[in-house]
Amino acid sequence: MESSAKYKVTPSEVHKFVYCPRQYFFEHHLSRTMSLREQVRLFLGKLFHIIKSLTSKMRGYSVEEKVVAFVGNIKIVGRADALKLEGEAAEVIERKSGKAPRKGAWASDVLQAAIYALTLIRSGSVSKARIKIEYRNKAHSYVFNEDLAAMALRVIDDLILVKYHGLVPYPRRGPRRCTKCPFRSACEELDKSLEAPGEVLEPGSWLEGIGLIPPNSPEALGHSLPRQSSHEG
Ligand code: SF4
Repeated sequence: MESSAKYKVTPSEVHKFVYCPRQYFFEHHLSRTMSLREQVRLFLGKLFHIIKSLTSKMRGYSVEEKVVAFVGNIKIVGRADALKLEGEAAEVIERKSGKAPRKGAWASDVLQAAIYALTLIRSGSVSKARIKIEYRNKAHSYVFNEDLAAMALRVIDDLILVKYHGLVPYPRRGPRRCTKCPFRSACEELDKSLEAPGEVLEPGSWLEGIGLIPPNSPEALGHSLPRQSSHEG
């Protein structure tokens, strides 16, 4: 199967793509040196993950374990922050060092974790999964259901169009997002050279308006999946 894989996608690419498909396009196709601020943030994020992974190990989770699966000719590969398999079910934890939004979790975080769940199910390791997004101040859990699976597959399709076929994707604009974007001027220049908005369907345009994903109800989470840890928010 591996030799026939034409494309490769990682969950962290999916995270970047959902955050802003256009920014992912620039990061993938343009080389750039990280600013000092970004390097410091990266370092602090790694430190946060190292500290948290110790707690996960004590609670019986596998940490940074490689997961691989094939969807048609696409290879999905990544390392989940924390992972627990119990019989036919899995729990995937995705950690973010920032604070949680007011309601639910960011779509980019949920879909990144959903890709791990999809990968585990496609690889035959389990038949169902729950995902948990752990922020610095609280956590939210989700059943990996048909809706999340459909969104995850759609993101993968669009990401491949951008990564391997060079299609220019949707600019997911937002005041905070664009102000701190290192590609802002390139993005504005690119817009001027493109067709009038609406004339072409840009990959990732359906993500507009999907900022936050509310967690599942406790009832939805209750069926025969690994027990949730006691500190879950
Ligand atoms: S400027 Fe805004 S829309 Fe353009 S790439 Fe950056 S974040 Fe995306």
